[in-house]
Amino acid sequence: MEIKVQVNQSRKRVVNRADPLIIAGPCSAESEEQLLWTARKLATGKRTDFFRAGIWKPRTRPGNFEGVGNIGLRWLKRVKEETGLKTATEVATTTHVYEALKYGIDCLWIGARTTTNPFATQEIASALQGADVKVCVKNPVNPDPGLWLGAIERIRDAGIKDIIAIHRGFSGCGKTRFRNMPQWAIPVWLKKQIPGLPVICDPSHIAGNRELIPHITRRAMLLKFDGLMIEVHPDPVNAMSDAAQQLTPEAFKKLMEEYL
Ligand code: PEP
Ligand code: MN
Repeated sequence: MEIKVQVNQSRKRVVNRADPLIIAGPCSAESEEQLLWTARKLATGKRTDFFRAGIWKPRTRPGNFEGVGNIGLRWLKRVKEETGLKTATEVATTTHVYEALKYGIDCLWIGARTTTNPFATQEIASALQGADVKVCVKNPVNPDPGLWLGAIERIRDAGIKDIIAIHRGFSGCGKTRFRNMPQWAIPVWLKKQIPGLPVICDPSHIAGNRELIPHITRRAMLLKFDGLMIEVHPDPVNAMSDAAQQLTPEAFKKLMEEYL
């Protein structure tokens, strides 16, 4: 499938919404203190709509930090009670879905590795049947627009009304400038397939390092994405996952001021 897109290079604000949707927070929940500290900072900044934290982490190889698991749901519940921020976490199995719904998580996201597998997305969709929850669907790891669309259709057909697509780039082989290469034409195409579907960008997982996040953010805003997912950690260098790409709350604040 050949998909082309024109980029508006003008420097004026071209974002789709007056108020882009922002999902921010650490890659992984590591402790209750880490979550509460980060959430308080983000709540004070008044720019974050959803506080994210992965509690079940899909790791490419075994032996890496695989997330804190169910206890993280209690911490997220406390984040919501204390800061008023809505919460978001990744789900990859039906058990994750049931547990997250039980704890009142407001937004569930399907990660790139899961979107790749129609069996997995169908199982998640069936577990979600009729639930009142926001569901974000990240693009699959490989640049197959049909897989992304298909996963969204399965969630939609399960009666979920509030769906958002997230462009987090596509993995390649060998050394590339970005951790996951963006293919801007694909999210633009996706938006045309489902009119009204909000599509946001995840500059953290595209860039793979802090330095390139502003560049990707600017590009996403020029392309009128509906919002952003950004990883924010109190001590990024020592984070238990994705240490190279997370921002401090201060750097996140600056990014919001400069690019939105
Ligand atoms: C994440 O958001 O931390 C994550 C694992 O994302 P992705 O599925 O985009 O790799
Ligand atoms: Mn991450």
